[in-house]
Formats: sequence, C-alpha cells, structure tokens
Amino acid sequence: MALPGGIKTVEELAVEGKRVFVRVDYNVPFEKGTKKITDDARIRATLPTLKHLIERGARIVLGSHLGRPDGKVKPELSLEPVAAKLAELLSLDIALADEPVGDGARKVVSDLRDGQIAMLENLRWNPGEEANDEAMARTLASYCDIYVNDAFGTAHRAHASTAGMVKFVSEKGAGFVMAKEIEFLSRLLGKVDRPYVAVLGGAKVSDKIEVLDALLERVNAIVIGGAMANTFLEAMGKKVGASKVETDKLANARNFLRKAVEKKVTVHLPTDVACGLSLDTATPTVVLVDHISDHQMALDIGPGTVELFRRVLAEARTVFWNGPMGVFEKPQWANGTMAVAQALADNKLALTVVGGGDSAAAIAQAGLADKVSHVSTGGGASLEFVQGLALPGIEALKETK
Ligand code: ADP
Ligand code: MG
Repeated sequence: MALPGGIKTVEELAVEGKRVFVRVDYNVPFEKGTKKITDDARIRATLPTLKHLIERGARIVLGSHLGRPDGKVKPELSLEPVAAKLAELLSLDIALADEPVGDGARKVVSDLRDGQIAMLENLRWNPGEEANDEAMARTLASYCDIYVNDAFGTAHRAHASTAGMVKFVSEKGAGFVMAKEIEFLSRLLGKVDRPYVAVLGGAKVSDKIEVLDALLERVNAIVIGGAMANTFLEAMGKKVGASKVETDKLANARNFLRKAVEKKVTVHLPTDVACGLSLDTATPTVVLVDHISDHQMALDIGPGTVELFRRVLAEARTVFWNGPMGVFEKPQWANGTMAVAQALADNKLALTVVGGGDSAAAIAQAGLADKVSHVSTGGGASLEFVQGLALPGIEALKETK
C-alpha cells in the first residue's frame, strides 16, 4: 500500500530495540460515574499496530487523551482503566506513568525493555497538549526515537502529540488504523468510478454545510435525508409541520440547491416521510412531503423515498455516506437508515465509505459494517478529509523535503 505524500506505514519503519511513541485514540466511553468501559472498540482497533511493534521488539510509549480535562489533572479522567483493559487484551503488563510529561513519565519510559509497553497519563491533563506548545512537543519527542500515529479521530487537531512533536522526531509513520483511513478516504479525493453519490443526513445542516459545498465539486448526485432534509424541504417552500428545522439555514440551503443546478449535481430529497407527534409515537404515519400537517414531525424518510434512494445507490460506483436518515436510535424511526445501510452493502461494484460517529453506529446496528468498503473511525476528521482539507496529524506524517 503506497500512501500519499510518502507517508510510511509502521511496517516500513525499523523499530527493533527503538523507543516508539504511538499516538492512539483511547477516548473511550464509560458507564456514567464508574470506571467501566462500555465500548472498547478504540482500544481493540490499535491491537494490530501494537502486536506488530511488540513482535519486532520495539519499546512502546503510548499517548492518548481522554475526555476534556481542559489542561488540568482530573483523576476521574485517568487512563488507568484503559491501561488495565489493554493489559487484559494483550495479556501483558503495562506501566502507567502518573503524569503525561515530567520526571515520573521520563522514568517509566527509560525503564522500558524491548517488547514492553508504557502508557503516559491523559495528555490533555497538560495544557501544552491542546495548545500545541513547543516545550510539551519537545518533551514528548524526547521520549522516543520513532513516532507513529494511529489516532485518526484526532488527526484534524493540531496538538502537541498529533502534530507539534513530530518535527522533533527523525522517523515517523502511520499505524494500521491510520493507514487504512488514509488509503480509503484518499480514494474519494482522487479519480473515482462514477457515478459518485454522497448520502448526507443527520441532525443539522449547520454541522455539514461545508461538507455539502465541498462535495458539490466532486460528486454526481447528493441524496439528503434526516433532519437536515427538513430544512431543505422548507427552503423549497414545503410545510414541514413540527419537524426539526434550522430557520437560520434556509438561505444556505437555497444557495446550495442553486449551486447544485449550476454544477449539474442531482440532489435527491425525500418525497415522503415517516411522521409522529413526538419521538415516542409508536406507529409512524407516512405522508407525502406536500401533506405534512402542522403538528406532525418528520422523523424518518418514507418508503417511497427509500425506494428512490435505493435505486440511486444501486447505480452508484462510489458512495460516501454521512448522517442517519432518521432518528435511528428508536426502532420505529430506523427503517430509512437501515435501508441505506443495506443499499450500500448490496452494491458490490461500488467503493462504499461510511463516516461520522452516528453513521458508524448505525451501520454497526444494521450488522453490515463488514459489508462496506470502509467505515471510518473518525467523525470530524473524516468529514474534513472528504472535503479535501489538510489534516495536521496527517500532514505531519508526510515526507519532509
Ligand atoms: P454523524 O454522527 O453520523 O455525523 P449526526 O451527528 O449529524 O450524524 O446526526 C445524527 C443524529 O441525527 C441522530 O442522533 C439522529 O437521531 C438525528 N436525526 C436524524 N434524523 C432526524 C430527524 N428527522 N429528526 C430529528 N433528529 C434526527
Ligand atoms: Mg454525531
């Protein structure tokens, strides 16, 4: 696999006996008020990189953030439960420093032997991390000979551990998680098989307006569902009743629709929607988008729209999907989202890429995550990537000339 910008993968680095700093994303969810990790997927995702380094006899220094301690030592945001979980998954002892940087951290790192792992405490306990402070970057760099980034989810942030420290380390590369993200997401920016269809949905137009605009330059068609579609429908003069609408984004929506016509990008909006009087309505009422009554809320796309979107997706040869088609967290509003997941899975001829936290959760809920080409682990990072923006954490890995 050749990555853009001469980025090396961890397999191309001579790590034997070397101290290797691995930036991981262990920002895992906990059961409220406890130390119980509710989803360890982010820890498991890094195991191939770590096992590779262990087998090669590297001395591994792990760095991650957890939550938002805002530069302060917050014991409730300690990585201790994460270190314990990783130790269990690898059946290895892991030395946890009691601070991200400092004499204690330095000691833990210098005690490492070949094939062993040390973990620094929550990097965001130190204000230098998010400030991308040079002193913090130099200190982290002094803990290693080689830098590896396997934290795609934070690659859009220029922090000391994702960007700042890299220029002070001579060898650098991407871990397996990062390499796969770059490989698949880059394919969406290059020469793609057409038609290229983007499916956008989710909560807000305001979260996604830049993405929508950027996609207009690349795609042949855009399919819009979710709450976002309500704003577009209202912008087109339809009444959407009590549905979620961003009235301050109607002008953006109209602008977008006008630009789409100019650029000859087809925009598909819902023709019917599944409505309720509230999220708790047990049985959805399907109505055409011209007949939504004042008290109704559109909470999913309707069956006619599902058929339309399915047809468009069956013909696509490249698909990027971000944002659920409805309130998929509740089964009565999950049909549209599950149908889109199925349509991606059924299209064996297309490159199918899913990005966004809730969209990744939706395709997992559908049991189809392994039936698409790639599910991105990064929410904000994957959206910035498909817009063609430079991500500091990825730029830092590129060959310096
Ligand atoms: P992602 O994390 O994949 O980028 P978003 O965060 O933008 O997606 O949107 C996900 C949220 O949008 C979900 O919580 C879902 O319930 C909500 N949503 C989708 N459709 C609607 C709708 N019609 N009305 C209200 N909320 C919706
Ligand atoms: Mg989300």
